[in-house]
Amino acid sequence: MALSYIGNIPNTHIRDHQRKRLYEAEEECSFWNDINVLSISDVKYLISSISAWAKIKPPTGILEGHTMVYATQDTISLPYPITKTLPYICHEMSHVINYNSDEADHHGRNFASTYLKVVRQFIGLKSYRELLESFRKHKVKFRRQKRNVKYYAVSHSDERRSQGQLRGYQQATNKYSG
Ligand SMILES: [Zn+2]
Repeated sequence: MALSYIGNIPNTHIRDHQRKRLYEAEEECSFWNDINVLSISDVKYLISSISAWAKIKPPTGILEGHTMVYATQDTISLPYPITKTLPYICHEMSHVINYNSDEADHHGRNFASTYLKVVRQFIGLKSYRELLESFRKHKVKFRRQKRNVKYYAVSHSDERRSQGQLRGYQQATNKYSG
């Protein structure tokens, strides 16, 4: 088990290869300058709102003491005033959501796409776009949104048409063979 990880988190064998790039990308976003320290009750409210939205059990919050800032599947530690701010809470809650998913990583693709969604929902569209742009600039990888399943539905007539086109193509190419 890696000593650099605090608490009980899944998939510690997965390398945290894009952490530095992700930190650099988020720090360039204007929403990351929001240093308005929230009250304890507002922090708790935000944690429970994000949990409800993500359909996860709200994590236990460690909101005081001189300890580390971290997140696991069931705990979020935001002990210092600077961590009781909207961008910090969105970042750490994205870890909690990510650690509750099937594809948990640390600051990988799954985390980055979760973070984008949390920012979009709880900070706003402008900040989401800014983060997306910054991820692209810093080459932070994230998962694309899943496509609508309906998109893949092919009607029988479409299928026949494409088969017909394929036959037409084969006939055309056969003309030149031999
Ligand atoms: Zn992080």
